[in-house]
Amino acid sequence: MTSTFGAHLLTTAVEAGSRTALVFEDRTWTYAELDLAVRRTAARLDKYGVRKGDRVVMQGAARPEALITLFAVTRMGAVLVPLHPQVTEGELTVVCEETAPRAVVGGEGFPDGTGIRLTWDDLHVDDEPSAPVAGEPPTGSDIAVIAFTSGTSGRPKGVALTHDNLYWSMAGGLSRLPVGEDDTALVSTPLAHVAVLGGLPQYTWARRGTVILAPRFDPDLFIDLVLGHKVTCAFAVPAMSALLARHPRFGSGDLDSLRWILSGGSPAQTATREQFRARGIGVVNSYGLTETAAGVTYSAPDETSNSTGSPVPQVELRVVDAAGSTALAGSSGEICVRGPSVADAYWTAAGTVPVTDREGWFHTGDRGRFDAEGRLSVVGRLKDTIITGGENVDPAEVENALADLPGVVEVAVSGVPDPVWGEVVTAFLVTDSGTPTLDDIRRHLDGRLARHKWPRRLCVVPALPRGATGKLQRARLTTLLDN
Ligand code: ATP
Repeated sequence: MTSTFGAHLLTTAVEAGSRTALVFEDRTWTYAELDLAVRRTAARLDKYGVRKGDRVVMQGAARPEALITLFAVTRMGAVLVPLHPQVTEGELTVVCEETAPRAVVGGEGFPDGTGIRLTWDDLHVDDEPSAPVAGEPPTGSDIAVIAFTSGTSGRPKGVALTHDNLYWSMAGGLSRLPVGEDDTALVSTPLAHVAVLGGLPQYTWARRGTVILAPRFDPDLFIDLVLGHKVTCAFAVPAMSALLARHPRFGSGDLDSLRWILSGGSPAQTATREQFRARGIGVVNSYGLTETAAGVTYSAPDETSNSTGSPVPQVELRVVDAAGSTALAGSSGEICVRGPSVADAYWTAAGTVPVTDREGWFHTGDRGRFDAEGRLSVVGRLKDTIITGGENVDPAEVENALADLPGVVEVAVSGVPDPVWGEVVTAFLVTDSGTPTLDDIRRHLDGRLARHKWPRRLCVVPALPRGATGKLQRARLTTLLDN
């Protein structure tokens, strides 16, 4: 069975077109209006020469045009490459080299010679005829989105998600989340995340509910929007939940309409989860990665431990020990995932690179453990990725960018545990002359790396911990913090 991404929106536009699909600031779109906007944008893209299979790179702030572009590009069978709004010119260059886009949308720092440059106004006009979408429609095995995620090699990796991957991820979410047509979901995370491309907004639209799009996350705005729109559910990475739980209005009646939040992207904090539960708001903890097109496990909303719940029906999960055998309940090992929402390949300019092993298993680089009831807990990471405020950071990429900072002899970067951000990016420096400050580091990285990758802590050390062969022992870095 296959279905193309966006079919859920089209179905509701036909069957219940007058229901409210999207609200952004003071504008509202019914399903019929949203579908018309998608068709108009697809007609504009067609006029600019975008065809099936072409890549369209979009530097997407949280704005309705970006969501409309997502649906328009994928409905034409073209491939959307969504990027974080804070992406730097250097990062844009890497993505454009890898994907050779036909068109680039939004943002300003695109390198020369990379496709036609389109502004939001070029794509979104209210008088474009509502012609049927041109060209051959996509099939389930066509790539819908290439989502860049931080690798561990100093270069981001583009995960090629097919229409089928996104469809099955949505089927998994719908089988486990209590979302219905009376729900109003709040989305305030950047659009480039798989949690938005394939997550809560899609589940809400599949159930004919309403999505409130926030231009950014800030706890006051979040609470204002919940109050103003009687929001019933929301997506929040744990850092957002921690900020909300500390907010003076958290205990007030302003959040009374909120029934549950979907939490993912980094380990849920048990204390925050308990504060939400005590406040009458359930927390559904979900484990997933860009490679799995969002969640593959979901907990019950009233779960008290930090378990991420059990796998969705279509997906197989196993925990593999160091000897390569399936670990028993209670023992930890690497989490491996197999199923129709798992991407087949990373997209590179030189060709595709497989995501899974020969038997179809994706080795996630996360350490986990099943309990006797089949619920998965994520207990650590085998890979070096730092997750700060739900954003992934590759330490090697930051280390490369800091290597030529004046005075620095050696540099290592690691995530240090933090009660709000989960982890904070921390630079460990061996210096020879003068000691750079955090401000020096930020000035050096400005324009080179997106802000969320900048170190927030700095530790100058006499030497980096290395093993007998000279290999950096990253796990020992945090023990140097008190020196
Ligand atoms: P998004 O790109 O939308 O943030 P994501 O965070 O689910 O989606 P990735 O950016 O690929 O996807 O990050 C995946 C990593 O996040 C996992 O490898 C894991 O380390 C961590 N992670 C995701 N969900 C959880 C969770 N519920 N508990 C613990 N760790 C999680």
